[in-house]
Amino acid sequence: MSLYSIDALDGKPFKDEVLSLVDRDAMEERSALEILSWAVENFHPRLTISASFGAPEGMALIDMLHGIDPSTRVFVLDTGRLHPATYDLIDRIRDRYDKNVEVVFPNAEEVQEMVRDAGMNLFYASHEERKRCCRIRKVLPMRRHLAGFDAYVTGLRREQNANRANARKVEIDSANGDLVKINPLADWTHAQVMDYVTERAIPINRLHQQNYPSVGCEPCTRSVAPGADPRSGRWWWESDDTKECGLHVADPEEAEGSGI
Ligand code: SF4
Repeated sequence: MSLYSIDALDGKPFKDEVLSLVDRDAMEERSALEILSWAVENFHPRLTISASFGAPEGMALIDMLHGIDPSTRVFVLDTGRLHPATYDLIDRIRDRYDKNVEVVFPNAEEVQEMVRDAGMNLFYASHEERKRCCRIRKVLPMRRHLAGFDAYVTGLRREQNANRANARKVEIDSANGDLVKINPLADWTHAQVMDYVTERAIPINRLHQQNYPSVGCEPCTRSVAPGADPRSGRWWWESDDTKECGLHVADPEEAEGSGI
């Protein structure tokens, strides 16, 4: 089946054109590799992967995209509060694929003003302060970085939580400038992801072996009991309905107000 091609748009794609030309139902039937091949064909080099290096999904996607085109791009948000294990993994991926992992930092003046006003560990003080930290250290740097791209790939999976249950394999990210957001693993299970990285001996965050299924910032992540909700180790002092990552919320105001 013929899918959307950037040539048909005579230049940069826009939200309405993408939505009208992409057969999104057909995309849902495509495999992760087929989706990624389509993305590279249409958007590279203005295509990137958003990888946290705190979940195996991103490592699987880097491997797949590297196999399609070694020059595909990847970035990580360095909040300044990541685990040492996460920094180690960035270097292991860099070495394995000879890839320049683009490290994106928050604005130094914004961080200085925040910690001067509310302290280094403000996120424990209130939900509002947690949102403020996530906004300055993650949401805004990501928005600034993505301004240089037309499309980006994420490791979102529908089974991860209720907020992601309706994720499509190809959608528009209105919170980040109407970029094309590509979720090739939307219909994958955790077991499928682990099988993929295990079979190929792809490096993953070593904290996964210490009951950290999802590794975020060091002060906001802890290990979980066997069988517990994988997200229960993130922002454990808050209620479940406030835990969605601000990077993956459609409404810009909501995105700025959510934690990551
Ligand atoms: S996860 Fe915690 S430390 Fe990281 S940006 Fe959000 S509030 Fe700040």
